[in-house]
Order: sequence, then structure tokens, then C-alpha cells
Amino acid sequence: EKRNPGEPEFHQAVHEFIQSVMPYTLDNPAYRRAQILERMTEPDRIIIFRVTWEDDEGNIRANRAWRVQFNNSIGAYKGGLRFHPGVTLSVLKFLGFEQTFKNSLTGLPMGGAKGGSNFNPKGKSDREVMRFCQALMTELHKHIGEDRDVPAGDIGVGSREISFLFGQYKRLENRFVGTLTGKGLAFGGSLGRTEATGYGSVYFCQNMLGHIGDSIEDKTCVISGSGNVAIYTAEKALELGGKVVTLSDSSGFVHDPDGFSEDKIAFIKDLKEVRRGRISEYAEKYKSASYHEGEKPWGVPCDIAFPSATQNELSLDDAKTLIRNGVCAVSEGANMPTELEAAHAFIEADVLFGPSKAANAGGVAVSGLEQSQNAQRLVWSRKEVDDRLKSIMEDIHKKCVAYGSSGGNKKGSVNYVDGANIGGFIKVADAMLAYGAV
Ligand code: NDP
Repeated sequence: EKRNPGEPEFHQAVHEFIQSVMPYTLDNPAYRRAQILERMTEPDRIIIFRVTWEDDEGNIRANRAWRVQFNNSIGAYKGGLRFHPGVTLSVLKFLGFEQTFKNSLTGLPMGGAKGGSNFNPKGKSDREVMRFCQALMTELHKHIGEDRDVPAGDIGVGSREISFLFGQYKRLENRFVGTLTGKGLAFGGSLGRTEATGYGSVYFCQNMLGHIGDSIEDKTCVISGSGNVAIYTAEKALELGGKVVTLSDSSGFVHDPDGFSEDKIAFIKDLKEVRRGRISEYAEKYKSASYHEGEKPWGVPCDIAFPSATQNELSLDDAKTLIRNGVCAVSEGANMPTELEAAHAFIEADVLFGPSKAANAGGVAVSGLEQSQNAQRLVWSRKEVDDRLKSIMEDIHKKCVAYGSSGGNKKGSVNYVDGANIGGFIKVADAMLAYGAV
């Protein structure tokens, strides 16, 4: 904390990681001598810059933007861009740190990074968003590249923003290369990328349940968020026989005891992806649903919880409520949505707890596959991408089992937090050791 004052989210992420990895590194004198943990918790570099743009009234506006290039030991930097008024350096450092180990877990050669801005896209016109994206890329392009750093989307950065960013990148560089992922299908995007994080989170959950001889079929699922991750989590959970009863946004949640059907999910996609409306509209359209302003969905009884909106959205009290209501699995679609004490409570209560590093790695994995396709100048079929996603999520699950079984929780089952942390750590640490003092 002395080294990084005023960075609570970053401390939280490092604290959780160190708890798992410290006992493992203490057993290895080479890691200790090389100060692996001290080096891993320091980003390679951070770029901070002003973004100046013009709004529709002709006013000049200024925002701050960052790119945290955390660690490129096992591949070029890779990680999303977030546009949200709550973005701080602490948030981006926590995300870049987590990204390093998540990317390692995928088995693909990708380093860790994260970036973004305190720009709020809500209420801005398309043209304002375009001017902001172009202004941001005018600086960012100097620091990225297909073999250097490959940004993608995150909160507030979807296909519209990636398209504006990539258009400007291509114009400035006069090269058509896959330096951004999440691109449109017409210009180098991968089939299945939009769905990948949500689908991957459900596949991971399916693997956790499969490990104890269970499945998602007939399970009641509570999902938070109604963005990219939440929507495709709902779609896949429904496809695998689950019953999804909630979605939310930052204003409140909707509860539909009848469950979200394909038609209802199509309505949500149009509402959130096209019309950029509020989730409350769902309850106005479907009378089976109720809207709960200012509340989170964790009080709704369920078998599986998929927190898929933002960090620290699930507190210890929320965890206690979910446990009391009989939750059997939690799969983190968002990054670090569960507070540290809440995660401990789930593990103590023997709830299958899939941490974000593992559970939401499907998005970046398919971004990695998009890079492969771009480099080969090929387009793979949707089935090929989905098959690879499934097998990557299965491999991540296996790594978690391999490294998370010794600590275990009360019944001696898998501690997925330890498994993901140690499983992600080893490859990065071994590469850093091999490089010597760099
Ligand atoms: P989107 O911007 O598409 O959606 C975000 C959703 O979360 C919206 O429903 C939004 O509501 C809600 N939300 C955002 N901030 C808050 C907040 N402070 N409190 C309550 N709700 C909030 O983002 P994504 O779906 O892409 O990302 C969601 C999470 O998943 C993030 O943690 C992200 O880092 C993580 N993630 C995303 C990946 C991806 O591929 N997109 C990959 C891996 C992780 P509202 O509309 O009201 O703002």
C-alpha cells in the first residue's frame, strides 16, 4: 500500500492473488531469489494522456486516458479498453494485473494489459463517440501494434467503439493489421467473438458442475448486468436447459419468474445493443416480470449466480443471502465482481466458485483466435471457433483442478481461486525466470 497509495481495487486483486500464490512460491527458492512476485506486481509501463474532442455543440472537451502495459513475458500485451466515468488508474491496474494471469490460463501466447478513459459514452451521440474514439486513437496508435499491444472492448466499448477506433488506427498507420480485436465481421472480426465471454462463462460453470456429476439443466440462474457478457450468458444458459430469471443494469434489476425465452432475450439485445435503453423497459413490455429500482438481483433464490456487470457488485451480505437460498455455483462473468470476504464465504460454504480469471477467459481466448485468423488471413467457421472455445474452457478447468485441489475447501473439493491463480502464475513466472534480470 505504501508503494501504490490510493489504489484499493489494485490492492484487492493483488491480495487475492498473493494469498494463493505465496505458499507456492515459498516452496521455490528460484522464484524467491528472482523477486518474481515483486516484479509481477509492477506494470511494465503506464501511458497516461489527454484526449481532446469536440461535442455536438462545438464545445471543446477533455478526458484522461490510460494504457497499462502490465506484462509481456509470454506474448504481446493484450486486454480491453473501458470507457466509464468511474475508470481510475487503480481500476485499470487491477484489470491489467488480472489479465496477465487470465491470458496465461488460456494457453495462448498473450501478455496482459488494460486501458480506457473516464469518458462516459452514455447520452453521447454516435458522432460524439466517433470524435472521442478518433482523438483517443490519435495518441494510442503510437503505443500499440499487432506484435506489441492489441486492445479490445470492455465496459462501454462495444462493436461501435471498436469500429471507430480501428478505422482511425488504419487511417493513421496506413496498414490493415489485426491490432484491435472485437472487430466487425466485415473487417477482420471473428465469428463467435461477441458471444465468447458469456458462452465461456457458462461452459466453465458446466465444467465445474460436471466435475461433481451435475449439470446446468433445470437450474435457476440469476444474472447481473445486461451488457455483452450478461446477454450471452443468458443465451447459453437457456440453450443448456437452465432457467434465467434476472438481468440488471446500473439502475436496477428485472425478475421474470417465467424465465427469459429466446424471444425475450432478442428483445433485450435490441433494447441494450441497438436502442441503448434501460432494463426497466423489459418489465413494461412483459407483464410476467417485475422491476426493482436501485437493487441488485442477489436476493432472488437461485441455483447458479452469474455476476456479469462490474467489480465488487456482490458483497458478503449478498453472498450470505445466496448461500441461505441454496446457491450451488457462482461463475464470475465480470472481472472481480465478488468482494474478497464474499468469495471466502462461498468457498467456506462449499459453493463451486469460478473466479473471473478462469470463468470469463473465453472472451480474450477468442480475441486470441481472432489474432490468429488475422495473421493467417483466414476466416474460421462459427463452429470451429466455438469448438476451440469449448476446449479452451475445458483446459482452463483442468488447470484449476490440477492446482486447486490441494488447498480444497471443507469437503476437500477444488478451490478454483487457488487453481486459477497458481495455474496462471506458473507460465508467466517461468518465462520471467528464463529471461533473467529484465
Ligand atoms: P457492457 O458495457 O456491455 O455492459 C456492462 C453492464 O454492466 C451493463 O448492464 C451496465 O449497466 C452494468 N454496469 C456497468 N457498471 C456498473 C456499475 N458500476 N454498477 C452496476 N452495473 C454496472 O460491458 P461487458 O458486458 O463487456 O462487461 C461486463 C463485465 O465483464 C466487466 O467487468 C468486464 O470487465 C468483464 N469482461 C468483459 C469481457 C468482454 O468480452 N466484453 C471479457 C472479460 C470480462 P448500464 O448499462 O446501466 O451502465
